[in-house]
Amino acid sequence: MSEHPPSAEVQIALGEDYPEIRESIRKICAGFPGAYWRDLEERIAYPTEFVNALTEAGYLAALIPEAYGGAGLPLRAAAVILEEIHASGCNAGACHAQMYIMGTLLRHGSPAQKSQYLPQIASGALRLQAFGVTEPTSGTDTTKLKTRAVKNGDHYVVHGQKVWTSRALHSDMMLLLARTTPLDQVSKKTEGLSVFLVDIREALGHGLEIKPIKAMINHHATEVFFDGMKVPAANLIGEEGKGFKYILDGMNAERILVSSECIGDARWFVKTAVNYAKERVVFDRPIGQNQAIAFPIARAHAETEAADLLLRKASALFAAGQACAPEVNMAKLLASEAAWHAAEACLQTHGGFGYAREYDVERKWRETRLMQIAPISTNLVLSYVAEHVLGLPRSF
Ligand SMILES: Cc1cc2nc3c(=O)[nH]c(=O)nc-3n(C[C@H](O)[C@H](O)[C@H](O)COP(=O)(O)OP(=O)(O)OC[C@H]3O[C@@H](n4cnc5c(N)ncnc54)[C@H](O)[C@@H]3O)c2cc1C
Repeated sequence: MSEHPPSAEVQIALGEDYPEIRESIRKICAGFPGAYWRDLEERIAYPTEFVNALTEAGYLAALIPEAYGGAGLPLRAAAVILEEIHASGCNAGACHAQMYIMGTLLRHGSPAQKSQYLPQIASGALRLQAFGVTEPTSGTDTTKLKTRAVKNGDHYVVHGQKVWTSRALHSDMMLLLARTTPLDQVSKKTEGLSVFLVDIREALGHGLEIKPIKAMINHHATEVFFDGMKVPAANLIGEEGKGFKYILDGMNAERILVSSECIGDARWFVKTAVNYAKERVVFDRPIGQNQAIAFPIARAHAETEAADLLLRKASALFAAGQACAPEVNMAKLLASEAAWHAAEACLQTHGGFGYAREYDVERKWRETRLMQIAPISTNLVLSYVAEHVLGLPRSF
C-alpha cells in the first residue's frame, strides 16, 4: 500500500474560497442563461460569445504565468472558475482545455516555443484547445495508438487517425500524441511516443482532415485524419520518444479541473431539485415533503460535500508539490458519481417536466454523464486505485 506523505504543511481552504472570482464568474454566467445553451444545441453551434467573455475577463489564462501574460493563479483558482461555471448551469467544455493543454508546453516546451505561443494563448489570440490522444482501435490502451510520425529532414510526416478530439474545428493548434518509434522496437511500451504542436490552420487540407461527430451533447467532438501531414521538427515538444511521460504529467491537473466541473454540476442539480421540490404541489403538499423525493437529494448533497472535501485535499497536495495521484483519482471518481446521483435525483424530482428542454435538467443530465467516461473512465480509475493504492495484483 502506498504511504501517504507527511501533510503538516498542506492547508485546505474550506467554504467559498476565492470569493471575488466566484462572484465575477457568476456575473458573467448570468448573461448566458439556459435559453442560450439550448439554442446552441439546436444549431450544434459553438458558444463563441461565452468563450469570448471568459477570454476577455482573463479567466482562460488563469494558469499561464504572469511572465507570459497570464494571471499566474494556482490550480485551485482555476478549479473554482470551472466549478462556478458549471454551478451556474453553463458548461465549460467548449473552452476548458484552453486552460490546461498549454501546461504540457509550459513544462516541457523549449524557451523559443514558450515565448512564441504562451503570450498569444494568454491573450486569446491563439486557441490551443484540441488534444489528440484517443484513437478508434486502441481506445484506453493509449500506448497501442497507431498514429505514426516519421522524421524526414526538418519535419515529421504523420499518418493515422484520432477520434473524439474535442474542439478541433474551434482551435488554431492541436497537441498531438503520435508514435515515433514502433512499439516492437522499444523496450517499454510507454517509450517511443512523442508530443507535437500541430498548426491546424496550416495543415487543414494538407494532410489533415477534421470531421464533426454527432454526439449526445454539444461538445464539438471530431474525428481527425492524418494522411501525410507535415509537422515542422521545431514543433516537437521536449525530447522525441518521451511524450507519454509529458502527457501523464498533466493528468493530475486536468483531473482536478474536470472534477471541479462535476462538483459545480452537482451543486446546480441539488439547488434546482430543491427549488422545484419546494414549489411543486401534488396531493396538496410540496413534493419535497415526501421523503422519497427529499432523501435522494439530501444524499446527493452529502456525496457532493464529501467529494468536494477530497478534491480540495487533492488540490492542496498538488499545490504543495506533494504526491497526489491517489487523491486526484479518487476525487475524480467520487465527484463524477456525486454529479450523476444529483442529476438522477433532479430529473426524478421534476417528473415529466424533467424531460422538457426548457428546464435544462435533461441537458445537464446528459452533459454530466460524460464525466464517468471522459477524460478517464470510472473503471480505469478503480483499476488505478486497486493496483497502485491498494497493491492488488495488476489486471492488465
Ligand atoms: C464527448 C467526448 C469528448 C472527448 N474528448 C476527447 C479529447 O478531446 N481528446 C481525446 O484524446 N479523447 C477524447 N475523448 C475520448 C475519451 O477520453 C475516451 O472515450 C475514454 O478515455 C474511453 O476510451 P474509449 O472510448 O476508447 O473506450 P474503451 O477503451 O473502448 O473502453 C470501453 C469501456 O470498457 C472499459 N474498459 C476498457 N478496458 C478495461 C479494463 N482493462 N478493465 C475494466 N474496464 C475496461 C472502459 O472503462 C470503458 O467503460 C472524448 C470522449 C467523448 C465521449
